[in-house]
Amino acid sequence: MNLTGRTAVVTGGASGIGYAVAARFAADGAAVAIWDLDLHKATEAAERLRQDGCSASAYGVDIADRSQVDRARDATNDDLGVPTILVANAGKEYFGSFLRTSQEQWDEMLRINLTGTFHCCQSLVPGMIEQGWGRIVTISSSAAQGGREWMTAYVASKAGVIGLTQSLARELGPKGITANTIPPEFIDTPMLRQAEADGLLGESIAMHEADTPVRRVGRPEDIAGACAYLVSEEAGYVTGQIIGVNGGRRG
Ligand code: NAP
Repeated sequence: MNLTGRTAVVTGGASGIGYAVAARFAADGAAVAIWDLDLHKATEAAERLRQDGCSASAYGVDIADRSQVDRARDATNDDLGVPTILVANAGKEYFGSFLRTSQEQWDEMLRINLTGTFHCCQSLVPGMIEQGWGRIVTISSSAAQGGREWMTAYVASKAGVIGLTQSLARELGPKGITANTIPPEFIDTPMLRQAEADGLLGESIAMHEADTPVRRVGRPEDIAGACAYLVSEEAGYVTGQIIGVNGGRRG
């Protein structure tokens, strides 16, 4: 895909899926803004991309804090130009039985995963409207397609992300902006490895692989490839969609 001349924001772009998306967009010619909680990690990630001859900058931002999001947007505008591509990927997981989920844990999931996605979209959409062109891809979760025990707060937040994305597609379509969501299942990232190490997957990743139609765990690059298509010029008629990248597993 040719993204030359485009500026893209990837939230959570210092790790896992987000880093693979940032690397793919940068290789395809975009100027990439890596927004992540930890500025040091984001700076290292951007530096790796620049060493490959790509254009990338790092910003420390908590997506749940609107003032930080708006500051990162302004800095990105100044450094790289107005972003017309957003991959709203940053997120956190929470495992725990429904009855033991405290309101604080519930609120934290909604605040980061859902409200954080809202802030990023609302902060960047005016720039996209001005340019008459935009691409939004949110990263939800296959768990939100079928529900998942021990993950009610996480799943509720990600189901909200799906509804937000589909509604944005309808509202922003007339402005030249598409919005789609990818609900990943079982992608080999630090988040998945942590869940395995904490004994939260029920069984090992290797055992889950045997249950997956394509017989392997997903790679962050699998999600990046789908994102590259969704933000391309060619995908202008694809909006409001839930694009499963899950090796044939779902929910
Ligand atoms: P990851 O390796 O943990 O990467 C997530 C990145 O987002 C981390 O760098 C994290 O920073 C950052 N982040 C977390 N909260 C943030 C905040 N408030 N503001 C800014 N950045 C924040 O996880 P991943 O597996 O790549 O997950 C990426 C997305 O895919 C998440 O939304 C996740 O829910 C979704 N997903 C993943 C899978 C999977 O199998 N891996 C499946 C379904 C959905 P810290 O490390 O400092 O927290």
